[in-house]
Amino acid sequence: MQPAVFLDRDGTLIEEAGYLDRLERLVFFPYSVDAVRLLNRADLAVVIVTNQAGVARGIFPESFVAEAHAHLRDRLAAGGAHVDGVYYCPHHPDGTVDQYRRTCECRKPGDGMLRRAAADLNVDLARSVVVGDRWHDIQAGTTAGTRTVLVRTGYGRTEEQRPKPGVRADAIVDNLIEAVSWIVGQPR
Ligand SMILES: [Mg+2]
Ligand SMILES: [Zn+2]
Repeated sequence: MQPAVFLDRDGTLIEEAGYLDRLERLVFFPYSVDAVRLLNRADLAVVIVTNQAGVARGIFPESFVAEAHAHLRDRLAAGGAHVDGVYYCPHHPDGTVDQYRRTCECRKPGDGMLRRAAADLNVDLARSVVVGDRWHDIQAGTTAGTRTVLVRTGYGRTEEQRPKPGVRADAIVDNLIEAVSWIVGQPR
């Protein structure tokens, strides 16, 4: 079994853009590709886990999510970095598109995407870390039994100022590259 780093997408790996519905709005942070490459070199599986309720809300089709992730992978590959898996939740309990309107286990703070990725990629969750900019990312990690890092990009700074009872990150850092420093400095 291998350890993994689960990265939230919007606000963590790329700029928070509200509902990202056009590729032009997909903007990496300046350090994102380096951060992923450093995780690759540290022999940590890297997995993106992202809520994409815009599908359930009819803001963009599921095919656009696939297109955005193909673009992400291309950009990472151009910088010598890669992700080992990408998991997204297209659902929302109040969605307007029937096919995606449901209460599911994959939508964070649920840990369904983490558990599925762990099964697919033979990941040891107890040696893994979730990085995200929302408390729901941290909750998902805690439920799955990973360590957790909240980043202050995206909604992170606001989230830090509004602590959630019973939810605690193992570390709170400025951004993804600092999260990577924290992760590679942890005992394995
Ligand atoms: Mg986010
Ligand atoms: Zn879902």
